[in-house]
Amino acid sequence: MADFDYDLFVIGGGSGGVRAARTAAATGAKVGLAEESRMGGTCVIRGCVPKKLMVFASTYRDTFADARSYGWDFPDGTFRWAPFRDKLHAELDRLEEVYRSLLDKSGVDIHDARASLADPHTVRLDGGRTVTAKHILIAVGGHPVRPEIANAHLGLVSDDIFQLDALPKSVLIVGGGYIACEFACILSGLGVEVTQHYRGAQILRGFDDEARGLISEMMQARGIDLHLGTNIVDLRPASEAPEGPVGTGSDAAMGAPVGVGDATATVVEPARPSATARPGGPVWVKATNGSARSFDHVIFATGRAPNTSGLGLEEAGVTTGRRGEILVDDYSQTSVPSIYAIGDVTDRIQLTPVAIREGMAFTETVFKGNPTKPDHALVPSAVFTQPELGTVGLTEEEARDQEPVDIYCTSFRPMQQAFAGRQDRVLFKLVVSKDSRRVLGCHIVADHAGEMIQLAGIAVKAGLTKEQFDATCAVHPTVAEELVTMAVPIRSA
Ligand SMILES: Cc1cc2nc3c(=O)[nH]c(=O)nc-3n(C[C@H](O)[C@H](O)[C@H](O)COP(=O)(O)OP(=O)(O)OC[C@H]3O[C@@H](n4cnc5c(N)ncnc54)[C@H](O)[C@@H]3O)c2cc1C
Repeated sequence: MADFDYDLFVIGGGSGGVRAARTAAATGAKVGLAEESRMGGTCVIRGCVPKKLMVFASTYRDTFADARSYGWDFPDGTFRWAPFRDKLHAELDRLEEVYRSLLDKSGVDIHDARASLADPHTVRLDGGRTVTAKHILIAVGGHPVRPEIANAHLGLVSDDIFQLDALPKSVLIVGGGYIACEFACILSGLGVEVTQHYRGAQILRGFDDEARGLISEMMQARGIDLHLGTNIVDLRPASEAPEGPVGTGSDAAMGAPVGVGDATATVVEPARPSATARPGGPVWVKATNGSARSFDHVIFATGRAPNTSGLGLEEAGVTTGRRGEILVDDYSQTSVPSIYAIGDVTDRIQLTPVAIREGMAFTETVFKGNPTKPDHALVPSAVFTQPELGTVGLTEEEARDQEPVDIYCTSFRPMQQAFAGRQDRVLFKLVVSKDSRRVLGCHIVADHAGEMIQLAGIAVKAGLTKEQFDATCAVHPTVAEELVTMAVPIRSA
């Protein structure tokens, strides 16, 4: 048998890679791991963790306002970005160290280097060194992508938000997915004037339609200037904006409206790529809805792509899909038997707990002799907008395509916010199979919906019926009691 340097070599020290490395090392395997950037990956350094801390920071504005309605008396305060950002980065440094020391204590060899495949058993590290391994696990994650429009390089992406020197006065967020909507709510909560453009008919594609509708309404009610069915047609540095008052937010900034049959139209030259302008400065944007104005920043939240370029996949014979994602079987094995892949780079479900579970299933399969498929069914998840969306299982739209369903749904103003004079509404929705009575989907729009769906997700995953939900006594007075008190379906579908 060939003699390898390692039993397992992991490329990527993010959520999936670190968990797989640690669990494999715990079986006695000799494990090496290469990370080209900071240990902890997207979740810890530029995703879930810093984002959630920003969510917390942004919600205090409502808390302070509500407190006054509850009789508290205190002067207006202001949010100071710089001390918050410094504390945030200190926390990320601490967490990175925790990840590093967990690997260290597990006996994993850490290589602070970029790695790529040389062949099915060989990994090339930055600097030319190579190591061999019986098994290689690719867990390199993904990166944000900008749209293919002129001057897109002027816009920021989610990674950049955590590094801002100062909080902008105004931003345009482009995109309608969960990252776009979360940052729209965060920045708005911190006092930034937020405009959001999304080319689709409704934000949060893939989530339940009623939940999407309510979140969209609530975001607009909070002052986010959301424009659906809207695309950028021209983007340039604010200093190169066409003549006319810039930054008014009105059509005047375009010079004049441009349109077929408009005798007064002034044709604005299409933007040429600006070689001098650097990312992150003020930009001027003209959109398909006729608006034309400057923003302190444009933030593109227009999707993510797998980190597969330059990884040596072709040399090793690993097959990729149309978007560059690594194709794997149910056990995360690639087209090359010695090479496995987990997490965002496989583009199955791009969530931290899923990457972690895929890593653990990999160890069970390869190092514990217990072939285990990661379970991608009924994964609960949350969107940390304000209010939050918690969801598990099928949307109404998905379920009704599969079988007849009863829909139980209620929407109301919760006591806490209603007392404070806020117009916020919550939504609780259960999608129930007419035939088996199983709850196929649960969708909650409410403060703390992320916490609620973690608990409701257990019941849905366990396959409980609507009648078993209802057999559970309500906790009163809570908003979540609606989960067990919706007696009559509002419709069948
Ligand atoms: C803004 C944002 C918010 C998010 N919020 C949530 C959330 O609330 N909840 C949730 O569950 N998920 C969230 N996610 C998704 C979550 O972060 C990812 O699903 C998760 O981190 C994927 O883990 P991974 O191990 O596949 O990859 P990653 O965590 O991305 O780790 C990959 C690592 O590989 C390294 N790497 C890449 N190429 C190489 C190479 N050639 N050599 C060496 N190292 C390499 C990278 O530097 C990185 O550290 C969020 C993501 C973003 C961007």
